[in-house]
Amino acid sequence: MNLEKLIRTNIKAMQPYSSARDEFTDFDQKMIFLDANESPFENGVNRYPDPQQQAIKLVLAEQKSVNPNQILLGNGSDEVLDLIFRAFCEPNRDNVITLPPTYGMYGVLANLNAIENREVLLSSDFQPEIERILEKVDANTKMIFLCSPNNPTGNSFSDESIVTLLENFNGLVVLDEAYIDFSEKESWLTKLNDYPNLIITQTLSKAYGLAGIRMGILYAAPEIITVLNKIKPPYNLNVLSQQKALEVLSDGKLIKTKTNLIKGEKRNLLKQLLEVNFIRNVYPSEANFILIKVDDANTRYNQLLEKGIVVRNRNNQPLCENCLRISIGTPEENEFLINILKTL
Ligand SMILES: *Cc1c(COP(=O)(O)O)cnc(C)c1O
Repeated sequence: MNLEKLIRTNIKAMQPYSSARDEFTDFDQKMIFLDANESPFENGVNRYPDPQQQAIKLVLAEQKSVNPNQILLGNGSDEVLDLIFRAFCEPNRDNVITLPPTYGMYGVLANLNAIENREVLLSSDFQPEIERILEKVDANTKMIFLCSPNNPTGNSFSDESIVTLLENFNGLVVLDEAYIDFSEKESWLTKLNDYPNLIITQTLSKAYGLAGIRMGILYAAPEIITVLNKIKPPYNLNVLSQQKALEVLSDGKLIKTKTNLIKGEKRNLLKQLLEVNFIRNVYPSEANFILIKVDDANTRYNQLLEKGIVVRNRNNQPLCENCLRISIGTPEENEFLINILKTL
């Protein structure tokens, strides 16, 4: 892979915005800050946030055994995914490959950025069809999006598939690990140094319980991070979000406990769902949700709504006919769900 050839020409040529906080970075020093036109009256958030979110990156680097210069943080995964489109994909010329049924944002971001989205359906057991994917690649294919564990199917992709794509595709392989904390498989982060074309995204929205603060994480080679830093909005993560992230990240034990609770609830739910007479299939799950196939998804969706339970109707997704996706809730919520399902 030649990174220089992947970057859009305007991005290569542009000068990034240099914020006040970029130019004078030693924020801990006892100085009088008159450089950013902020209000001088302390209220906890009167100063601009650290544009590089150094404190959070140090914690993540330590916990994930990566270098801080391999990390980019964004306002949710949405932002880091959008940034890679903007950095590498030339509108109305380039294309990306996505593998439905999968997370809808890849396709939305492709559309938004005027990038062709070449869809290659997963196999019937929800694995990437490697040959068909590689057939779709041409000189303008910049990225392949892999979501593993995949949303909404819940399974992870085989190691062989991922390696084959990393080794045979000259562009970037984007591996979305939003649900990795619920999986028995280890993250591909340990392979980051082996594959210069690997981008891994994770999020604080699921296992970390911080969907509300919007924090997505992208891990990649430092050269890729440098390009993305050049185009990201300078203050993309606000002070309150950064504080909350630090607070939660520093209590790894609590996250582990909660994740294990969810995994236990999932095992229990997987068993009980099999006992519901209109459920035709319960798919295995390495995430914090379960995909089920029912007799009639629209009917069952509406029946659940009437009982006060909102699930995700995936009926209109390819390979997901009559499928509902159910997030794992609290033990009480899951018990309520099962009791309702058994009465329908
Ligand atoms: C939930 C989810 C995310 C998280 O997105 P955020 O913008 O970080 O909240 C990312 N990828 C997938 C596949 C998801 O299901």
